Amino acid sequence: EKLLGEIRRANRIFTWGENIPDIILRFGAEEGFEKSIIEKLKEANIEKPSPIQMQSIPLMMKRRNVLSSAPTGSGKTLAFALPVIDEILKLKNRSESAKNKLLAIILEPTRELANQTFSEFQKYSNGEIECCNFSGEDEEFEKAEILISTPNRIVFHLEKLDLSHLRWLVVDESDRLFEVVEGNEKCFRNQLAAIYKACEAKCTRTAFFSATFSQEVEKWCKENIDNIGMVCVGERNS
Ligand code: ADP
Ligand code: MG
Repeated sequence: EKLLGEIRRANRIFTWGENIPDIILRFGAEEGFEKSIIEKLKEANIEKPSPIQMQSIPLMMKRRNVLSSAPTGSGKTLAFALPVIDEILKLKNRSESAKNKLLAIILEPTRELANQTFSEFQKYSNGEIECCNFSGEDEEFEKAEILISTPNRIVFHLEKLDLSHLRWLVVDESDRLFEVVEGNEKCFRNQLAAIYKACEAKCTRTAFFSATFSQEVEKWCKENIDNIGMVCVGERNS
């Protein structure tokens, strides 16, 4: 217990919120990871969690809403991809009825980032989850279990998406998606609000990830999201 607290401090992992779970120091079966994920991480030579992964992964594995910030290049993609994939693998193993249901949406501000995130999801899903790059060439989204997309495509197809089984809405680069553009009805902020509002299933959890810690996003999350766990790695720059 005390040791974990010290490791948290040494890695400059700051947390807010109630019942923040212990950090994890390994990607192992003991930490709850599916075998296929452990193997994929080994293949990629990824040996231990980065600081943002140490704290965000156990929060998401406990199905908490999260707000996470850590510098660019610190491993935020796997910090949300691994717990989302792990949960969906377990869900699909448990019940046949989870098959071809939309279980997670990952929002990215650009198609470029959506492409990168999509390939990570493909890799760690090990062919066992239907991942769809919605803002790429993928036109077929009816069978998708995980959709990776820019917000505009989701908003455009919102009525056609069945969100009643959605387990995760992940908003990557959330500081950018929160930007308000004066006079632009279609700005990210409005698109995000429309998507968030549509994701009202009881089983849906939300995870925000960004490089900078924004007080505006923090305030919005505290006011709108129950039982949120917040993590910040490094300097709180505001
Ligand atoms: P961010 O989204 O925080 O900017 P990325 O998720 O793009 O960062 O990760 C940056 C790089 O670090 C990627 O090449 C990724 O494969 C690598 N990486 C992620 N997690 C780890 C880890 N635990 N150990 C080593 N490398 C990692
Ligand atoms: Mg990133």
